[in-house]
Amino acid sequence: MQVFKFGGASVKDAESVRNSARIISKYKGEALLVVISAMGKTTNLLEKLTKEYYNNTGLQFQTLEEAKAFHFHILQELFPTGGTIFDEIANCFVEIEWILEEDPQDSYDYLFDQIVSMGELISTKIVAAYLASTGEKVKWLDARDYILTDNTYREAIVDWSKTEEKIRAELPSILDSYIVITQGFLGGTSENFTTTLGREGSDYSAAIFAACLNAENVTIWKDVPGVLNADPKWFEKTELIPELSYTDAIELTYYGATVIHPKTIKPLQNKKIALNVRSFVDPESPGTVIKSTNQTLPVPSFIFKVNQIFISISPRDFSFIVEDNLRDIFNLFHQHRIKINMMRNTAINFAVSVDDTGQNLTDLIAELEQRFKVTHESGLELITIRYYNQETINRVLVDKEVISELKDTYTCQLLVKKI
Ligand code: ASP
Ligand code: MG
Repeated sequence: MQVFKFGGASVKDAESVRNSARIISKYKGEALLVVISAMGKTTNLLEKLTKEYYNNTGLQFQTLEEAKAFHFHILQELFPTGGTIFDEIANCFVEIEWILEEDPQDSYDYLFDQIVSMGELISTKIVAAYLASTGEKVKWLDARDYILTDNTYREAIVDWSKTEEKIRAELPSILDSYIVITQGFLGGTSENFTTTLGREGSDYSAAIFAACLNAENVTIWKDVPGVLNADPKWFEKTELIPELSYTDAIELTYYGATVIHPKTIKPLQNKKIALNVRSFVDPESPGTVIKSTNQTLPVPSFIFKVNQIFISISPRDFSFIVEDNLRDIFNLFHQHRIKINMMRNTAINFAVSVDDTGQNLTDLIAELEQRFKVTHESGLELITIRYYNQETINRVLVDKEVISELKDTYTCQLLVKKI
């Protein structure tokens, strides 16, 4: 059996839904489970709505109308003669309204998951209804009943053994007769609360289903031709990488390549399931296959992360940076959910580069300052080159000053500032 994943861009309007449905129909010959994200930029919109509600701004109702209008416009184009799907989607929005009618009492993270999850529930209902209207035998499944997690809202941790047991017990027989449509990004706790797996987590959902079902392969359908050696946003000339090892894919995503969610690859590697990254714009072309191979990347790969802050931490009392204060520093980063993109330490200094995430970073720095001498510099760019050489380094350093640099055999990281 195969697992497909369609992201927000592949279902961003009626024509995209029709296109994705055509791809699904073409491959329905064998068992197929399809994981779908929220439509277009819905997750961002619902995140904004959650913040507006949580902060009592009153603006949430207007944002809800915006989300409704967006989805009903797509529905009208897909189902010009109407149908029960209109009521089904209206009911999803009513569920959000119920939440908004009460004053926010729960934690932000909990509310986020209950509200934002609607994006995926809605998109999958629409795509399933559309496929059914074209004559396909589809079954809509609630991923929250299968991907079982703890209650770390917004970043839930999967209980693999329970998840595997549930998926194996129920899905194979359904897959024998139906194309299964389900949500990416969502999980459920043992008390039946909704959780999410971290932003852009739908790829990870596809990997979880595939690993539990021992799928033959997973295909992520994207608006790019496959894995490129750099984001076309940064380089005019990029190259498609036809074949990539799991190890290289893990390294690239770890350093910030956004083409696949970093958690996706490990479960597939463990089961030796190939991961295809293909274009929904050009579904005939083979794209990239990530699999078990000794082949290294044919060309150096570049990953750019902008909006970085370099934080430098030193003990106030001239003691060394050793295990005990490192432990405290790491704990603070973990508590504030700040992910470290690059780190470096010397006898009396520990320095990191992190994404500038605003308030939670300001709070972290304030806490660090209670114990340490802290300096920070913002507006930086972190460039990672996998399979670097001097020529590639020179290429990215034009008009840049290096603030910090790390090199190992295959990977070079440069934290730079524009000059
Ligand atoms: N819709 C979710 C997000 O945008 C999950 C995903 O797209 O993978 O974060
Ligand atoms: Mg998305």
